[in-house]
Amino acid sequence: MTAATEIAFENTFVRDLDGLFVPWQAAPAPDPRLVLLNESLARELGLDPAQLRTPDGLALLTGTAVPDSATTVAQAYAGHQFGNYSPRLGDGRALLVGELVAPDGTRRDLHLKGSGRTPFARGGDGKAPLGPMLREYVISEAMHALGVPSTRSLAVVATGEPVLRERGPEPGAVLARTAASHLRVGTFQFAAATGDTALLRRLAEYAVARHHPGASSPRELYRAVITAQAELVARWMQIGFVHGVMNTDNMTISGETIDYGPCAFLDAHDPATWFSSIDSGGRYAYGNQPGIAQWNLARFGEALLPLLADSQDEAVELATEELTGFADSYLAARDRGYLAKIGVGTPELLGGLFALLADQRPDHTLFFRRLSDAARGDTGPVRALLGDPTALDAWLESWRAAGPDADAMDRVNPVYVPRNHLVEEALGAAVVDGDLEPVQWLLQVLADPFTEREGYERYAQPAGPDAPPFMTFCGT
Ligand code: AMP
Ligand code: MG
Repeated sequence: MTAATEIAFENTFVRDLDGLFVPWQAAPAPDPRLVLLNESLARELGLDPAQLRTPDGLALLTGTAVPDSATTVAQAYAGHQFGNYSPRLGDGRALLVGELVAPDGTRRDLHLKGSGRTPFARGGDGKAPLGPMLREYVISEAMHALGVPSTRSLAVVATGEPVLRERGPEPGAVLARTAASHLRVGTFQFAAATGDTALLRRLAEYAVARHHPGASSPRELYRAVITAQAELVARWMQIGFVHGVMNTDNMTISGETIDYGPCAFLDAHDPATWFSSIDSGGRYAYGNQPGIAQWNLARFGEALLPLLADSQDEAVELATEELTGFADSYLAARDRGYLAKIGVGTPELLGGLFALLADQRPDHTLFFRRLSDAARGDTGPVRALLGDPTALDAWLESWRAAGPDADAMDRVNPVYVPRNHLVEEALGAAVVDGDLEPVQWLLQVLADPFTEREGYERYAQPAGPDAPPFMTFCGT
């Protein structure tokens, strides 16, 4: 076994994009303890799980001692947060360790969250409490299993140091995550704001090479990101995912979901649902997500203007033209996805479906899963999910006439999603009682979300009617 200190990192970001990072070191972790390790992801990355469990492995996963091949940096970015522009956000409590090139050639960032204050920390303490890091681990891995492009979670290591939040002290932790890259819309906003067009051009070329190699110009990069994000948000909508903090610094160029802070899943299908205590106006509510993605992509287009054409007017015209493609891409992805969910190829059925969902607000996940029972001849379970079951009958009849494929539906409609009450219950046990078993169970269930299993019924159920309304807090 080679030592963790001999893991070979590459550093193309640092090599190519001087001006977009600050070299920085992690804060000490006085008593590191491995809480979760994603062994299968480790192997996919070409890492040896046993090696990551050693003291050297924990030093790497907390950033306190990294291999010679790694250069830890805090990345710079700007961003619109809830619509307001901040010229300097950046990794306030995170470090990019480097890039791992897997045996299959895939390049992924290894990134640590909660590794201490950086020059971008502003007022923050640079730390992360265990609960929110476990939350990101559980939900990002669930998203991956659901087939949604996402950053992934490699490990959570408790640092041995308490972190103070509104609720009181919590164990501190570092999340080690991987991503296709950490380039964000906000990275382009930061580069554009420097006024250094050569830097902006280098960033665009880097993004093309790493994520959208088919794009042969900045304009085509813009188009590729618009398409990737339209398809991503369509996937979120189909599984009832509410990101919760769709600021431009939390939107990737790769098209992966990133930054699982106040995110949550719908129980009832209600477009006005939002969960985040800091989103007082519901700006990032479930039903607003496609429109917000388009708004963020308009900001991306603005950052790209100097690369799109020689004259500003011409550049604006080109960007505007590209951005109109968002609606087409989104609607096409939405319709494709919902047709798969209802197991037919008849777009005429979608209007009625959307009206039913908006009007009856059934449990989003169960509605589609129980619809396959109806495809097999038993309409009882799906009708039972509606306040007024008769509202469904006319649509059910035309849908069944279209010949839905129940098995195909079961392959795309999950039984198990990280429902809020289940996640909270598991995190509570881990943080308050130091009992990791509920988190382990939940991870195991969510790793195979499409196979209904006996004995796991409670993982498929929404919170009961007496459950308090669910809220996510920003004390992350
Ligand atoms: P987020 O909303 O988690 O994407 O974070 C927004 C910005 O706040 C980013 O620049 C983060 O690095 C920074 N940030 C969040 N929490 C902390 C913290 N505890 N200490 C320092 N910076 C933080
Ligand atoms: Mg963020």
